[in-house]
Amino acid sequence: MDAFTYTGLPTRVVFGSGTLLQLGAEVERLGIKRAVVLATPQQQADAERTAAALGSLAAGVFAEATMHTPVAVTDRAMAAVAAMGADGLVAVGGGSTTGLAKAIALRTDLPQVIAPTTYAGSEMTPILGETKDGLKTTIRNAKVLPETVIYDVDLTLTLPPALSAVSGMNAIAHAVEALYAQDRNPIISLMAEAGIKALADGLPKIITDPRDRAARSQALYGAWLCGVCLGSVGMALHHKLCHTLGGTFDLPHAETHTVLLPHATAYNAAAAPEAMAAIARALGARNAAQGLYDLAGQLGTPRALKDLGMPAEGVVRATDIALANPYWNPALLQHDAILGLLQRAYAGSRPIGGAL
Ligand code: NAD
Repeated sequence: MDAFTYTGLPTRVVFGSGTLLQLGAEVERLGIKRAVVLATPQQQADAERTAAALGSLAAGVFAEATMHTPVAVTDRAMAAVAAMGADGLVAVGGGSTTGLAKAIALRTDLPQVIAPTTYAGSEMTPILGETKDGLKTTIRNAKVLPETVIYDVDLTLTLPPALSAVSGMNAIAHAVEALYAQDRNPIISLMAEAGIKALADGLPKIITDPRDRAARSQALYGAWLCGVCLGSVGMALHHKLCHTLGGTFDLPHAETHTVLLPHATAYNAAAAPEAMAAIARALGARNAAQGLYDLAGQLGTPRALKDLGMPAEGVVRATDIALANPYWNPALLQHDAILGLLQRAYAGSRPIGGAL
């Protein structure tokens, strides 16, 4: 075995069905006396219920979380935290709500308890992306890693099937890139393969029956593992392209991941055969990239960037931006090859290659 370095993330995890009932105990465990409950406007009612259940441990609700963590929203949240005299943060929601909790924690060092309701995985990472004046900056800082995460399968039962599918593919993308990361290690690779397998097993059942608790449990467990992958090792071409497209053309986060993943995987196939074998095993497919494309098809997700609002001429621009400041990647980054990848993703055609 090659030498490697592994750093464990110190987050405490409570997993199961109905686990949000333990929120009060978990909040007290962190010494929080007055928690502000964060949510998106769409999940305000959930936040109100959570605050009511917390009783005197809740300072109030702030339900303005939004995609890509705009600094203006964080500023308003900071004012609310100060006005409420809050000494801790509870987030009930997806990556957008978790992002807001992290942004407040970065500025205040307040402890966080996160109850995820999607498969984005942000709760397991020390990473925060914030936007100001249309520009997204991403930082890595131990201060933003949540102290406690309560995975309650029941909170995901209401995630609509279409959102579940793209959110799950977003999670799988973290594990795929972890398997060929420059700083990959055997522990994270174990989690990555198990994470992909749990999601690939669970997601199709969720599309058929969104209230299938066993499938939801599998998917949430997979999302946790994939989130650990994202938080632990570096990401490559796929994440770079998603950040470029999201930032430049304002494309939806999870959908963009879903469309690009099979193509980015095919791009790296020849340079990362062991990773491809692990992905294919986890998917129960013969070929990693084709298997991911087929899974997206089975889940009925969008498969073309043109259907996400990407302008046709954006393909060239995105190629230039992605190459201007690239992430490390196992396969050599070549302009024409990336242009071809983006053209196929734009059209929604099958990825080329990816054979083992
Ligand atoms: P999201 O949090 O924006 O949620 C999408 C929509 O679904 C929202 O309206 C939300 O209220 C609703 N929703 C969420 N869970 C629901 C449920 N169970 N039932 C009903 N409705 C529900 O989407 P997301 O994909 O989870 O997060 C995307 C954001 O997270 C992006 O800003 C992305 O950059 C960020 N992100 C960050 C990291 C990181 O490590 N920093 C990792 C992944 C994603």
